Amino acid sequence: MAELNKIGVVGAGVMGRNIALFFAQTGHQVQLFDVHQDAVTSALDAVGQTLTRAVDKGRVSADDAAATKARLNAASKLADLADCDLVIEAIVERLDVKQTLFAQLEEVCGSEALLATNTSSLSVADIFANLTHKDRALGLHFFNPAHIMKLVEVITAPPVSQIRCDDLVIYLNQIGKTAIKVKDSPGFIVNRCARPFYGEALAILEEGDFSAHQIDAAMRAQGFRMGPFELIDLVGADINLAASETMAEAFDHHPRYYVFNQLKQQVEQGNLGGKSGKGFVTDE
Ligand code: NAD
Repeated sequence: MAELNKIGVVGAGVMGRNIALFFAQTGHQVQLFDVHQDAVTSALDAVGQTLTRAVDKGRVSADDAAATKARLNAASKLADLADCDLVIEAIVERLDVKQTLFAQLEEVCGSEALLATNTSSLSVADIFANLTHKDRALGLHFFNPAHIMKLVEVITAPPVSQIRCDDLVIYLNQIGKTAIKVKDSPGFIVNRCARPFYGEALAILEEGDFSAHQIDAAMRAQGFRMGPFELIDLVGADINLAASETMAEAFDHHPRYYVFNQLKQQVEQGNLGGKSGKGFVTDE
């Protein structure tokens, strides 16, 4: 495939900032845009801190960190992404908002630019339903934190060009990811397999036998890298709830995809985890 030189990232939240960091670290010029300009500023600050820590730990040289930072640009308007070869959307998990954004991107970007959504669970075909050039639109599901986690689910929904998808899978693998092609089905693979992990932990919490901290500590001691509640706080309870609800709906409210009240309450109370400073096990 033609080399991807310039990458646009829309949404500077938990995912967008680290997707931007990954592409900047792998030599791409990156334009990062958010409807809230201060979100871009704080994203670039956070990425700067990540790079400083990496330098302090000897994982990255000071020169490489400086070059990465120099490749990360704050976009002040969507039109700044006009000459990007690939634009990745990482905004709020709502179908209507994503559809509106892609309609705007289609006006702004060249007709050859690849357009990608980082949705966790929405139908990629639905997100792109109103596009004129659907053959260049696909899902790229990165995992949190996106500059570290290897896996990228590449979601292909007809009529996306299979050749362009295959080329992108090869390209992502060349720049350090493990990209796999997956079908456009609710939750794809990982989020679907992860539902019972969260679900059973939420069920135990609702039954009141153990606290979230106890459950996490036990699972970590058992060899899991993170406990279920730490993971919900990392992902964001709002994103976790949106994915849970999408899957419950998609599978006709099958008990496998039960949406627990504890999760709904966290979102109602604004206890989203790291991003709000308070969550199941987060208290900053
Ligand atoms: P987030 O809430 O941290 O960030 C979303 C950002 O998008 C915010 O800064 C917001 O201001 C911005 N935004 C909202 N509407 C916008 C618009 N129309 N144009 C430009 N910017 C807009 O969310 P997140 O956790 O980064 O999730 C983003 C997407 O990635 C969602 O679709 C989510 O399902 C998916 N995702 C999240 C995770 C995770 O662990 N959090 C993992 C994989 C995929």
